[in-house]
Amino acid sequence: MKTQKVSEVLSLFPLTARINAEKQLCIGDCNVVNLAREFGTPLYLFDEFTIRHQCHEFKTEFSKYYPGTQVIYASKAFLNRSLVLLLHEEGLGLDAVSAGEISIMNSVNFPLDKVYFHGNNKTSAELSMALDLRVGHIVADNLQDISTLDKLAGERKIKQDILLRLTPNVDPHTHQYTTTGILDSKFGLPIVTGQAEEAVKQAMTSPNLNLVGLHFHLGSPIFETEPYEIAMEIVLHFAREMKQLYNFHLEKLSIGGGFAVPYTAGTTAMSISGYAANIADKLNSLIAETGLARPELIIEPGRSLVARAGVALYQVGTIKEIPGVRKYVALDGGMNDNIRPALYGARYEALVANKALEDAKEETVTLVGKMCESGDIIIKDISLPQLVPGDIIAVPVCGAYSIPMWNNYNASLKPAIIMLKEGNARLIQRRENYHDLLNLDII
Ligand SMILES: *Cc1c(COP(=O)(O)O)cnc(C)c1O
Repeated sequence: MKTQKVSEVLSLFPLTARINAEKQLCIGDCNVVNLAREFGTPLYLFDEFTIRHQCHEFKTEFSKYYPGTQVIYASKAFLNRSLVLLLHEEGLGLDAVSAGEISIMNSVNFPLDKVYFHGNNKTSAELSMALDLRVGHIVADNLQDISTLDKLAGERKIKQDILLRLTPNVDPHTHQYTTTGILDSKFGLPIVTGQAEEAVKQAMTSPNLNLVGLHFHLGSPIFETEPYEIAMEIVLHFAREMKQLYNFHLEKLSIGGGFAVPYTAGTTAMSISGYAANIADKLNSLIAETGLARPELIIEPGRSLVARAGVALYQVGTIKEIPGVRKYVALDGGMNDNIRPALYGARYEALVANKALEDAKEETVTLVGKMCESGDIIIKDISLPQLVPGDIIAVPVCGAYSIPMWNNYNASLKPAIIMLKEGNARLIQRRENYHDLLNLDII
């Protein structure tokens, strides 16, 4: 395992991250070692500046190349009420994939007309709630969705705007668990089988539905723009055909999320500007080629909006060396707060927040959690300065898809989350306590 320089790893951390004169990690003008002491570990922290910066980049870069692009944050990456309020200030809309997510958004009066409701198995109860709360757009995933929604909307005398989720059969070359746009997927209406056309026909003749657009989401992360370009070509050609056959007008084209971010030193991802330029170029030429009216472009970044802003902090506990085999360093969290390494082999870097030395003598260790599973590994074989109990480990790029998958395995307590801004740390989710573990349990 090659030695990573502190500066290389530091570049994965939030934009405000720096190392102070005492060789300690600081984020948002807060000393991370002090935060670990004050709030305890494991601790998840977010840098407000980085989140706002990403919102701004997506809005300005895409609008520069394709004016009017709408940025809709895929909230399943990380949903928290303080974050919802922040994103509302930044002018973003939100994606929801369950009534639970919608109820969280509604609890802080987020304007639900800016919400897109996705999901491959929305229940009647969820669809009813979405209609009653006047959720702006519902993305129908299958024919059942269309018929249920038409009936429920009719009962309420509502004409509901919908999009159809299509599977254009494009492979974005990600992990099979995060690939969604191929034919053999539980998501969406396949074009090649004729089911997508069937859905357009059904939606266009549903009296209580207003079919305004088409959507696809290919998977995540996608490191190049070619899959988006191929999918847009397929979907725009499909839209032209549907216009001829059923007088369908493509007002909105939603190309999903999936924009990549680097998790490890030495990995690079395309800039937001790069994605925007290539996608807009292709879309503009497809509009010219098909003669379709210019649709509104909708992008749905999840990971790329929050991943880099989030950092996980742990404290080193026991250290076990098996001579000639491996050195295990156990942290006070694990697969209960970040299941991604166990679930799909996600790879991370780390810094020792209390001694981020460029020239320390390093050794290869495996960082494990404290859960009763041998697969409870946070980082296998990482080169770090010699660790001692009490050291604080900071893992970057933990802002997306870790927190929503938190669990209470081994009756572990879910960590606290703080938001950092200009030297202030604000608690946005308190740490669980033992009382919380008993909340739902009935004797
Ligand atoms: C998950 C998801 C996204 C976001 O994907 P990221 O990789 O986090 O950007 C966008 N759209 C839909 C429909 C999704 O399910």
